[in-house]
Amino acid sequence: MEAAAAVFRKVQAPLTIEPVEIDRPWPREVLVRTVATGVCHSDLHVVDGLGRFPLDRPMVLGHEGAGVVEAIGAEVTTVKPGDHVVACLSGFCGSCPQCLSGHPNLCTGGIVTRPDDAAPRLSQNGQPLRQFIGISSYAEQMLLHENSIVRIDPDLPLDKAALVGCGVLTGVGAALRSSGLEAGQTVAVFGCGGVGLSIIQGARIGGARQIIAIDQFESKREMASRAGATHFVNSAEDDPVKAVRALTGGAGVDHAFEAVGLAKLVRQAIESLAIRGTATIVGVLPPDATIEFPWMAIRPECKVQTSRMGSNRFRYDIPLYLDFYRQGRLDLDGMVTKRGRLDDINEAFRAMKAGEVARTVLTFD
Ligand SMILES: [Zn+2]
Ligand SMILES: [Zn+2]
Repeated sequence: MEAAAAVFRKVQAPLTIEPVEIDRPWPREVLVRTVATGVCHSDLHVVDGLGRFPLDRPMVLGHEGAGVVEAIGAEVTTVKPGDHVVACLSGFCGSCPQCLSGHPNLCTGGIVTRPDDAAPRLSQNGQPLRQFIGISSYAEQMLLHENSIVRIDPDLPLDKAALVGCGVLTGVGAALRSSGLEAGQTVAVFGCGGVGLSIIQGARIGGARQIIAIDQFESKREMASRAGATHFVNSAEDDPVKAVRALTGGAGVDHAFEAVGLAKLVRQAIESLAIRGTATIVGVLPPDATIEFPWMAIRPECKVQTSRMGSNRFRYDIPLYLDFYRQGRLDLDGMVTKRGRLDDINEAFRAMKAGEVARTVLTFD
């Protein structure tokens, strides 16, 4: 089948919309007609080429997709044609030590993509195209392993559900699954993009009594407030560590989250902690990033930890978070601040860089 897709060919250059060939499903694969895809910062990280992700090219980007099952392989048991599904990059094998010990988000089984020497899922004129983390949602169709998708109720809006596949899953999960947040604790969130706003929402759902949002863009103040932040610090104007101390009566916060992927913000998160506080690093840092801080900045018995994709068990968590949405406890409508079509992808990247959006969602016919 031929489908239009946004192809990454050159670092720091616009993606190009091109026709690509999509293979037939293998026995455990599912062909999904893409209905909507969120535009996540990780795709922009790839285009920017600063080392956070490999630069195999040409590649079809996008990984926050939702759609309708069109065809299934002979051994697929979890979905059927017509089902509504959300894709997640945390595809799991179900049999490696991480999967078996209850941490499928850390799966080492490598089932997400086909082997390198196999026929490619995506190609163009007989030449293989890379598939981004097993999904490639900037395309009219996605061909995925069945363990990279979850079926959702058909009454849920797919343009909102798509966001739960990466940004919302990562952020809400960082607060509710990874951090150890207890009701009544205090929180600071460094960075109010799609993930940071989702951390704020997760902290609100989890019962945090004070949620301090920090961002360099004043435009994020209102978005953070809508997500549940009780305070906002503009880091372009005020030192965020001093501001957090002032807002907490000098104590610092029980939980600080880094949601951008910058060493400077990791350091600020650690320096904002209260005694026995926990810093959770959610952002993806460049591999050679180094974090330095004076020893005196660390309060007694603090912890620093990372969170990978919100410590998700996505087949369980995505329907759960969509239930929160249905109940009005998780705001997805407010997360979609810009809309477009596939060929608006480069404009979506620009808007993200400029701090104008929580999330752009691209929709297909
Ligand atoms: Zn993402
Ligand atoms: Zn596994």
